[in-house]
Amino acid sequence: MTLSTSGQPPLTLGLPGVGAASAVPVPSRERRATCAGDLVIAGLTPMSSCDWPGRLVATVFLQGCPWRCTYCHNHAILDPRAPGQVPWRDVRDLLARRAGLLDAVVFSGGEPTRQPALADAMREVRAAGFGVGLHTGGAYPRRLEALLPLVDWVGFDVKAPRDLYRAVVRAGGETTAADQAFASLRLVLDSGVDVQVRTTVDPTVLSDDDVRGLTATLHALGVGDHVLQEVRPDGTTSEYRAALARVRAR
Ligand code: SF4
Repeated sequence: MTLSTSGQPPLTLGLPGVGAASAVPVPSRERRATCAGDLVIAGLTPMSSCDWPGRLVATVFLQGCPWRCTYCHNHAILDPRAPGQVPWRDVRDLLARRAGLLDAVVFSGGEPTRQPALADAMREVRAAGFGVGLHTGGAYPRRLEALLPLVDWVGFDVKAPRDLYRAVVRAGGETTAADQAFASLRLVLDSGVDVQVRTTVDPTVLSDDDVRGLTATLHALGVGDHVLQEVRPDGTTSEYRAALARVRAR
């Protein structure tokens, strides 16, 4: 196991009113799966050295997530119907200005694989000469499988051991999220794409034994290094902050 203190990545949201709904038109149904310009982008970090270890990247945060994790620190990014705040052309312009300075673009979220336009955006990034990174929790295994040939590195979030998955993500049926996540992890590991597997440890759900058991499970699946991230209270709900404080006071 590796303990990371970085926690969840910082999110730089687009400025309110800049590139708001009117600047990011809702795409027609037939264009939705093919055009990078259809991406609904919640925020853009122009330069980051922590979103892909060892690389200098721009990070694009995509709107929408099917899960509702206990410790989620950015509720504004969850609603898939919310309008984008940053048009794709801003990402394109950034890459044109930063050629030779940035190594790659990381697509994060939310759950970035939710958006069909992601594949086209990844192709465009690669064609511009940049690497492609992806942060995912694996909620959409079939979409992820189709994206893997376009990806150079995956930051894969495993939320919990199977039996505690729903307690963390708080969505879907009893085993839905766990089934999706472990199927996706299998696809990533089998693809040979470089991957970092990490868990933000929620101490209100997971005991130390749960975490040790998860690490053992992941090693058995072929994960060499399981990175543990400390949960951060900022941005979470008041109920969660109170629960976290109680657990940490024990
Ligand atoms: S996967 Fe969980 S932590 Fe990440 S955006 Fe969705 S709800 Fe928030």
